[in-house]
Amino acid sequence: MWQLKIPAKIRVFAWRACMNGLPTRLSLENKGVRIKGSCPLCEKGPESIKHALVHCSKAWEVWWSWQTCPINFGEGNLDVTDIAMQIMEKGSAMDLEIFFITTWSIWYNRNQVVHEQPYLTPSQVWDNAQRLRCDYKGAITANFLRQQPPVVGWAAPPPDTFKINVDGATTVDGKRSSVGVVIRECRGIMVAARSVVLNACYDVETTEALAIEAGILLAGELKLHKVIIELDSLIAVQAVNSGSCHGTMGPVIHGALNLLNQFGSWKIQHLKRDYNKVAQELAQYARRTDLSQTWMGNEPPWLHNLLLFDRSKC
Ligand SMILES: [Zn+2]
Repeated sequence: MWQLKIPAKIRVFAWRACMNGLPTRLSLENKGVRIKGSCPLCEKGPESIKHALVHCSKAWEVWWSWQTCPINFGEGNLDVTDIAMQIMEKGSAMDLEIFFITTWSIWYNRNQVVHEQPYLTPSQVWDNAQRLRCDYKGAITANFLRQQPPVVGWAAPPPDTFKINVDGATTVDGKRSSVGVVIRECRGIMVAARSVVLNACYDVETTEALAIEAGILLAGELKLHKVIIELDSLIAVQAVNSGSCHGTMGPVIHGALNLLNQFGSWKIQHLKRDYNKVAQELAQYARRTDLSQTWMGNEPPWLHNLLLFDRSKC
């Protein structure tokens, strides 16, 4: 639990929730405090930790929003620890972070309501929790990126890993946006490339997100196992790394995150624009020719020099 990427106060809260250490009405009543132990929100049972955070109808209305939840915790009389263990078994660290940040948000809102503070709707409680999670992860990623040494040029991936460089091209003239994808192996040799004309004119960020999606799709067709995705949009890289699904590119990022599950391992990183020339050229090619095209193995002649330049540094 201490490894989760969640704010410290929520980590402490999660610990207390699992250790039966939250001041619920039931626990206060048991300690001799003169207070009614029943739930002040639904009045349908004692306010235990599991009631307050999971089984209370007010909590359920929030949990309804968690559509990608890996387990079904509505059934049975599971407590917070049981649920956390099941998520650890069947889900990812991100699922566990979602679970704890949301329980914290539910708890916080309950206390607001009890103290007659403004009441948030269930979807607001959910949205606040997810925003908190994304903001926190975004801050960690930004800090991490600042500490990275600068990359000098394009670098080939390690053996058994494939590098997917992607780029998006978009114009102000309303012409359809396009994306370019190139996949190379550890010697810098092109495995596949693709130029795609998109179905509409998108904003820059959405186009970059769609470029990531195109890269994942091509790697999926090749059944690659370990991949590194690289592009020159820091915003898109951070969105994927933090699982942030806000803004216009949100739905595309969300879809990309699901698609990434197919790989044995994956990583996404930022690369300076000057070093992403091959993917850029592929995106431009689609725009110039208005054609979508895929190359498997054989490099297109007009891409030869750019590929050779990157390869010379391997
Ligand atoms: Zn209740």
